[in-house]
This record gives sequence, structure tokens and C-alpha cells, in this order.
Amino acid sequence: NVSVVLFTSDLRLHDHPALRAAQDGSAALVPLFVRDDAVAEAGFTAPNRMAFLADCLADLDGGLRARGGRLVVRSGDVVAQVCQVVAEADADEVHMAAGVSGYARRREERLRTALEGEGCRLHVHDTVITALAPGAVTPSTSDHFAVFTPYFRHWSQEPLRDPVAAPRAIRVPDGVGSEAIPSRTGLSGLSEGLARGGESEGRKRLTAWLRADIASYEDGHDDLSGDATSRLSPHLHFGTLSPVELVHRARAAGGPGAEAFVRQLAWRDFHHQVLAARPDAAVADYRTKRDRWRSERAAHEDIKAWKKGRTGYPIVDAAMRQLRHEGWMHNRARLLAASFLTKTLYVDWRIGARHFLDLLVDGDVANNQLNWQWMAGTGTDSRPGRVLNPVTQAKRYDPDGEYVRRWVPELAGLAGGAVHEPWKLQGLERAAYDYPDPVVELSEGLARFRAARDRD
Ligand code: FAD
Repeated sequence: NVSVVLFTSDLRLHDHPALRAAQDGSAALVPLFVRDDAVAEAGFTAPNRMAFLADCLADLDGGLRARGGRLVVRSGDVVAQVCQVVAEADADEVHMAAGVSGYARRREERLRTALEGEGCRLHVHDTVITALAPGAVTPSTSDHFAVFTPYFRHWSQEPLRDPVAAPRAIRVPDGVGSEAIPSRTGLSGLSEGLARGGESEGRKRLTAWLRADIASYEDGHDDLSGDATSRLSPHLHFGTLSPVELVHRARAAGGPGAEAFVRQLAWRDFHHQVLAARPDAAVADYRTKRDRWRSERAAHEDIKAWKKGRTGYPIVDAAMRQLRHEGWMHNRARLLAASFLTKTLYVDWRIGARHFLDLLVDGDVANNQLNWQWMAGTGTDSRPGRVLNPVTQAKRYDPDGEYVRRWVPELAGLAGGAVHEPWKLQGLERAAYDYPDPVVELSEGLARFRAARDRD
């Protein structure tokens, strides 16, 4: 018999339980990826992610070919395409991993109904998007955890399944046509410093990270110029790396760095279990409702300055320019950029989240929207009134100003921490720098935030 394996957010051969199950039960299988129209219509085809996706598909195809198989790529409505491939391959089973979003669940239901009509069975395997499936641990009084610390306590005690080995050989039946494997050549609007995608690249990065860098993660993860985090987030987003394998391998590496790293992976699971239980948190305030954001029209100039990295606050501007240049931003920088937009400029978090999703190569609804909500004080932060002061934070996390000078070259002439406060320069010295004055005084921003929050 023949199976179809539908790849979605799991573009890898290692630790792929659906692929393993399909292979165990079939003489031949069709590895299928559908460029889903619905994803494009929902606006989730930012160029940076499309380029990374193209790398992932090319690498997956390469990995399959090395094992005697190949990847089949189709475009269109995912359900119609799967049914068509099932008919061409005369398949009797379709295997896929469960998704966690509302869209993924509707896709599974539509597929189940359509395939039943074709006499084909759909096997939906446990999700591989997170290490622990949403709902695997719950508090006694709710269907999900709304606070990270108790979630993490339960998460840490839960046994994890063992990773599944990559297949050695794959036989794909003849007669199933594929579009050309996409390539990043020809895509426009890409960030210059965009990372390469694909499972091979992800595995190389992971091995290097575990060997050399994870040990210093606990001390170094907030150091902006040190850039000492794993940069594995796009690989986790596209599923070129398995979070289960990451947790196992980090735990095997051991030590405080590995523990701190595993805790971040648990944050990822935490946001996914919130979104799985409350899909509307992608757009609606999760816990604390705020109605008094400045209108987009009133804040137009400020939003523009924020997006361009011209707010006059060097650390915020460095962050926003890193985003544009790399399609990625350091976590501490994301926090500062988000606090500045939502608290200092008092602009709706949805505007910032949309801009991030337009550029981030790791941009995903669970992590992006819920981190934005956390920082905006509408989400799961137990201190929703917290405001990050960009100057104090800059001095703490970029004490020598190296991160700012890297991304804001017009300030490169300012040595050390002085780069964080160019407005302190006087007269001709100030005039020598083609850099804007702050869009707002911090004290003014803080007063506006507090007044609006108290009225909400
Ligand atoms: P590391 O520090 O090496 O962490 C390892 C992994 O843990 C990351 O790859 C990531 O998968 C996970 N992780 C770390 N921090 C968080 C966190 N706070 N929440 C959830 N998972 C985390 N992450 C995304 O993957 N996609 C997003 O769209 C996204 N948007 C964000 C928006 C804002 C406003 C903020 C404050 C954070 C956002 N994050 C997002 C979380 C975090 O900033 C990135 O995951 C991290 O910077 C990725 O870099 P890294 O792989 O080097 O992380």
C-alpha cells in the first residue's frame, strides 16, 4: 500500500513520527508539501519567510533524494491538492502531525471529511511543533496555564517521548507530478543578512551551539553585543529542528546554560498552549483590555520613526534596524522595541506585531502575538504596568555601546556608553551627528501611559 505524508511546520527527516509511521505501514510513500493558498491569503507570506521556506524545501528534497526519494510540491487549496495526490498515487492513508492553531485544526477536519469520501484514512499524529503538546499539562481549574512559572514547574516534570531516527531509505511511487522545488532566487524584498534555512543548516547550527556556546548562555543571553543566543528560532518555526530533540540534547549537555536554554524552549510551549486554548489571543487582548491606544493617524509619525529606526533612542533604533537588516532580532532588543512602541509611544501592540510579522524570519502567531501582549501589558505578564526604560536598559545590556554602533553607524563616532544619550551633546558637537532628537521625552511618554492605563 501507499501513504502520503503531508509536511507542514515540520520540514525535516529527523524526529518525524508521522513519516516514521507512514513508512512502517507502507511499501511506498509520497512526501508532500502544499503551498497553501489560504496561508498566502491570510498575509503570512513575508518575503524573508518565503526565502527561508524555499531553502527548507530544497534541503528536504535533497535529504529525500539522498535516501532514494524526492519531495512533491504542489500549490493551491491544501485539501484539494492532497486529494489529487492521493488519487494519483492510489494512496490509502495520509499521515500528518497535528497543528496547534485554529486554522490547522480546521484544515485537519476538512481533510478528514474529504479523504473519507475518497476511501482514504487520515492519521493525525501528536503535534511536533512544541516539545509538550498544548493541553498535556493543565491547572486544575482551567484548560491552560495563564502564568509561566507554574506551567514551567509542571512542564519540567512531564516525561518527553524519545526522538525518532531519520529514515534510511524512501521509495516514492511513480506517476506523481511535482512543481519545481522553490528557490529563493528571484524573491524580492529580502533582508540582506537573512539566515539560510533547511534541516542540514539547522542541525549544523545546533551541533555547534551545543558544543561551544550553550555553556555561556545563562550569563550571556541578554548581552546585546555578544549576540550569544542560539539563533535557532527560525528552525523551530519551520520545524527543521525538533523541539523534543533540542530538549533532550540540551539536557544531555547539562549545566546552568543548558537549563536556562530549556526554560526558553518552555516559554515557546507556554505561548503555544495559550494560543491553542484561546485562538482569539492572536488578535484580541488576552487578559487586560486596553481601549485607549493613540489612533494610528495621531501616532503616524511616531510609528514611521519606530519602523525606520529613527526614534532618537539609539538602542531602539539599533533594534529596529537589526530587524530590517537580518529579519531577526535579539530577544532583549525585541522587548525594548515592543515596550517603546506600546508603553512609551502608547501605540496598539497589534501595529507592532504586524510589522514584526512582515519581517521576522521566525515570525509566528503564538510567539509573536503573545510576546507582544506580554510586553504591552494585555497578556500574561503578572506586572502589566512594567515599562522598560531604553536608556537604563541600554546601559545594562549594551554597556560599551557596541550593539548600537553596529546598527546605527551614524553614531559610530561616540565612544562607550555615551552613544546611548546623543541628546546630551551640545552645540556643534551635537550638530555633527545626523541623528534625530527623541520623538518624545521618556517622562512624557510614561505620564501618558499611566494616565491612559488608569482610565482604561
Ligand atoms: P534563544 O535565546 O537561543 O532561545 C532558544 C529558543 O527558545 C528560541 O529559538 C525560541 O524558540 C525560544 N524562545 C526564546 N525566548 C522566547 C520567548 N520569549 N517566547 C517564546 N519562545 C522563546 N520568537 C519567535 O520564535 N517568533 C516570534 O515571532 C517572536 N516574536 C517576538 C516578539 C516580541 C515582541 C518578543 C519580545 C519576543 C518574540 N519572540 C519570538 C521570542 C524571542 O525573542 C525569540 O524566540 C528569540 O529572540 C529567538 O532567538 P534565539 O533562537 O537565539 O533564542
